[in-house]
Order: sequence, then structure tokens, then C-alpha cells
Amino acid sequence: MSSWRAIQKENFTDHQKLAQFLQIDPKLIWKDRKFPLNLPKRLAEKIEKGSLEDPILRQFLPKIEETHEEPGFSLDAVGDVPSQRTERLLHKYQGRALILSTSACVMHCRFCFRKNFPYAKEKTDFSEELDVIANDSSIEEVLLSGGDPLSLGNQALEGLFQKLNAIPHVKRIRFHTRFPIGIPERIDSELLRIFALSRAQIYFIVHCNHPRELDEQIFKYLSAVQRLGIPVLTSTVLLRGVNDNVGVLKELFTVFIDHGILPYCISQLDRVMGISHFEVPMEEGKRLMAELAKQMPGYSLPRYVQEVAGAPSKIAITYVEES
Ligand code: SF4
Repeated sequence: MSSWRAIQKENFTDHQKLAQFLQIDPKLIWKDRKFPLNLPKRLAEKIEKGSLEDPILRQFLPKIEETHEEPGFSLDAVGDVPSQRTERLLHKYQGRALILSTSACVMHCRFCFRKNFPYAKEKTDFSEELDVIANDSSIEEVLLSGGDPLSLGNQALEGLFQKLNAIPHVKRIRFHTRFPIGIPERIDSELLRIFALSRAQIYFIVHCNHPRELDEQIFKYLSAVQRLGIPVLTSTVLLRGVNDNVGVLKELFTVFIDHGILPYCISQLDRVMGISHFEVPMEEGKRLMAELAKQMPGYSLPRYVQEVAGAPSKIAITYVEES
């Protein structure tokens, strides 16, 4: 079997090649040099040929609309920069801190809320971040995000895990990743060994927005994580033209619960510059969630949330009117 790094080299990064593969006009793909096209082959193979409206393609096709400036949309909509305690450590919420473990991703989602983040150089030495965590006993949970934390190699991850596990007050390590959707082979035996050795409880949050992103092979890899006693949960962004539909969301959450994976949250789009064409108005989101609540068991429904810069937690959006 090929290693995940070899598979990643097959990603589509060339406009002409993707256009030819999908039978679309290459002139419709915007050449974004700062946040370029990056799409795993496995996902590209799930896209309907010749359709610009395909819900997977919409998430990854760079479009000229991204250059439009809309009022109310900004570079740092979620207040990442003011929450930096070091270059790579964000501390927004009580008890939790987030390490920006890398700026690299297995895929470039056009709606990414962190696509404008001023990452400095890549590094695998997080001593400054670890010092802050070690000296602040209120931090019981460390989130590994980025970028995608699984873009780090196993050696770098193992080093980070060992250091986090050596801090007694760190009780939980939480992963936020989209890697298994693009290259599930990233969950290799070495990564599972590192997870199995962790003293701190791991939570593994997979980001996924449409049921067609999923397949049985992905669930096979995720079940290896579950077998270690690691809860696997999901995070979804409500996206115009992708999943702003009761049927699609119901199918997405149902396939997760059928595999023992709990939908954890669905987020209102963060109002980041250049992504306004993905926004679903909140009132519409509330209607979708209220309809889902009628059709699905309570445990299958993620929290509908919005991140507000400077707020002490994510804000839960309520959608069922009390009678
Ligand atoms: S994987 Fe996550 S961090 Fe990376 S581009 Fe997509 S949304 Fe952004």
C-alpha cells in the first residue's frame, strides 16, 4: 500500500489537469496564488463530470468571486490574531488552548476561515507554546488544529504528544482534521501507536460537509481510531449550494450515527473576506435545523453554533420556538 505522503503527491494542484479530468472549462478556475487549488484525487473522483454545481467541487474550486469584498466580511472574522499568546498558540476559551500545529492542509477548502491567517514559518518545535501551557494550570485541554494537524509527520506528532502528556494538568488532546476525508490512509499503524500511548484522553473531530465526501473505506480507518477508545465526532459548516438542504444534512448525520460517530457541531459560516458566496442566512439555518429536529433522534443533531470574535465561548444558535 502507498504511504499517505505518496498519495498526497497525486493531489490536483494544476488547473489544466483538473479541468481536463472534470471536463470543465479551465478559464472558470481562478488562479489564486496565495491559497491555490489543492484537491485530493480521491475527492476529485467523487465529483460529477462537467458539473460546476457539484457539492464537492463547490468546496474546492477557486472562483473569481473570492476577490469580491463584501461589507461585514473581514480578514480575521473569528478574532484569532488578538487571542494569540505566542505565534502558534491561541487562547480564546477558559480551560482550552489551541496549537496551530502547521499551516499545511491536505486540501484547500475555499470557505476556510483561516485562509488569511498570518502563519509565520513552519515549525515542529513548539517549546514556546508548550511553556505557556505548562505554566498555566487552567489549560486542561489542548486542541491541535492548523492547517491540518495530521499534515505533521508521525515523528513530529509523537514529539508533541510526549511533551503534552508530560504536563500533568493537560487532561485532553483534541484533533480537528479533514485529512481522513481526503486521504484516510493518513491513519496509519504508526499514528495509531502514538494515539494508543497517550495518557491524555484524545478526541478526534472530523470535518465533513456532504455525505458524498464519505465512503466505507474512510469509516474503516476511522473505526481503527474508535477501537482505541477515542471518541470520533464531526464538525460541519453550513454552506450555500453544498449542504443547505434538509435531505443532505439528514443523510450526512445519519451515515455518521450509523457508524457510531456523533455529529458534534454545525457552524454558521465565519464572515471571512472572499467567502460571502458560501453564506446561508442564519434564519434559513434555523429553519433547516428545526426541520431536522422533527425528523431525527436528539443525539444525532449537532449543536448549531456561531463563533463571535472576543466572546467567551461559541454561541449556540437556538432554532426551536418554545410554545
Ligand atoms: S482543511 Fe480546514 S484548515 Fe485546511 S483549508 Fe480546509 S477548512 Fe481550512
